[in-house]
Amino acid sequence: MIDSYKHKGLRKKLVEGIRDKGIQDENVLKAIEKLPRHFFMDSSFLEFAYQDKPFPIASGQTISQPYTVAFQTELLKIKKGDKVLEIGTGSGYQACILIELGAKVFSIERQKKLYQKSKIFLPSIGYNPKLFYGDGYKGLPAFAPFDKILITAAAPFAPKNLIEQLKIGGILVAPVGNSDFQVMKSIVKTSENTTEEYEHGTFRFVPLLKDKADD
Ligand code: SAH
Repeated sequence: MIDSYKHKGLRKKLVEGIRDKGIQDENVLKAIEKLPRHFFMDSSFLEFAYQDKPFPIASGQTISQPYTVAFQTELLKIKKGDKVLEIGTGSGYQACILIELGAKVFSIERQKKLYQKSKIFLPSIGYNPKLFYGDGYKGLPAFAPFDKILITAAAPFAPKNLIEQLKIGGILVAPVGNSDFQVMKSIVKTSENTTEEYEHGTFRFVPLLKDKADD
């Protein structure tokens, strides 16, 4: 795969656009500038990869809009060495952004094809998140607790067992709502049985679905 000067130039512009929309975390902006988004798309046409828009990937899913990836990542306040659980690997783009920020990433995907593709593709470009095929609603109790949990699909509610899998002081970021729109929430676990919730505007994601899809 080629990452040309043209790609790099378009990425710089994309990052300026995201900065203008309000993203301030320089480390997040740097990660987006570094990671070639066109590697993660079936069709790597420049005009699609570096527009600030979501794009269809396999199995009827989407790679999130770069601004949304930046927004969710900023809310996670990633520190080097953070253990992060992502629900919805999709293309693997968000997982690689988290790795760029120094996180140790665990990611779950319910579409077998997407899981299988990421399992081969991500190591081939030098990224090694721990990938799982399964139902993200259940989280990964065997690997808990996590410093941060990120849901990258629309959740009807923030699953309780995922909050259980957070460390005290940990943050869960999720778009919560129905299929039309969701409110971006960050939920901080303040003690074993208390949380504080913050709301950050409305977004639109593909739905978080129960169980595995075996196609
Ligand atoms: N983070 C992705 C965006 C993925 S879109 C990226 O960077 O490309 C949301 C993804 O969540 C889809 O791939 C969808 O299949 C997956 N998903 C939906 N419900 C799920 C569940 N219960 N468990 C795990 N993954 C799920």
